[in-house]
Amino acid sequence: MSVKNQLQNVQASIEEACQKSNRNAADVNIVAVTKYVSIDRTKEALEAGVEHIGENRAEDGMAKWNELGDNGIWHFIGNLQSRKVKEMIHAFDYIHSLDRMSLAKEVQKRTPEGEKKKCFVQVNVSGESSKSGLSVEETIPFIKELCKYKAIEVVGLMTMAPFVEDAEEVRPYFRKLRELKEEIQQMQLPHAPCSHLSMGMSNDYTVAVEEGATFIRVGSALVG
Ligand SMILES: *Cc1c(COP(=O)(O)O)cnc(C)c1O
Repeated sequence: MSVKNQLQNVQASIEEACQKSNRNAADVNIVAVTKYVSIDRTKEALEAGVEHIGENRAEDGMAKWNELGDNGIWHFIGNLQSRKVKEMIHAFDYIHSLDRMSLAKEVQKRTPEGEKKKCFVQVNVSGESSKSGLSVEETIPFIKELCKYKAIEVVGLMTMAPFVEDAEEVRPYFRKLRELKEEIQQMQLPHAPCSHLSMGMSNDYTVAVEEGATFIRVGSALVG
C-alpha cells in the first residue's frame, strides 16, 4: 500500500483515539520509523506529508539524512552508543533514548557551544530485561542530575511497551509514563520542561494516544 493511504489510516485512528480521550489530534506528532525501508520509501513518506522521520541506527540514519535531510525533522529512536554520537548528532533534532550519564556527557561534548539538543529520557516502565531505559525509580534523580549538562534539554519521556496481542494490556505502562511526566513537569526544572511523551508503535499507538502520547513512532503500519 502507498504511504499516502497508510498515513490516512493512521491519521483516522489518531482522530478516533483523540475523540475518545478528549484530545486535540494536532497535538499528536507522527514519527515515521523508516529503519526497515529504503531511501526511496522514506522519500515517499516525506512527499506524502510526513514531517518526522525516525531511525534507530547511526549509519542507516545518516545515509538517509545525507539524501533527504533538509526535508524533515530527524529523530534518533534506538540504543545509542556513545562512540556514534560524534557522527550523527548534527543530523538528528531529537534523541529519544537518553538512558545513562555517560551518553549525556558525550552529547554535551559533541553539541556545538550554546546549542541545545532535544532529548527524551527513556524509561523501562514494564521492567522487561530485554528493554533499555531507566527504571521508574531512577528517572527523577537522573533528570535532576542532567542539569549539569547545559546542552541537554529534556523535552519528555519515552518508553517501549512489551509486545502483546491485545494493546489494552499495555495501557497501564503508558499511563504510568504519563504520571511520571506530570510529576517531573510540576518540578519546573529549567533544563527539563518535560512536556512530551514518546510512546506507541504500530500495534499500540491508539492506546498510547488515548493515554497522552505527543510523539508516536510508527514503522510497519505506515511505511511497511
Ligand atoms: C522499530 C521501532 C519502532 C516502530 O516499530 P513498528 O512496530 O514497526 O511500528 C518504534 N520505536 C522504536 C524504538 C523502534 O525501534
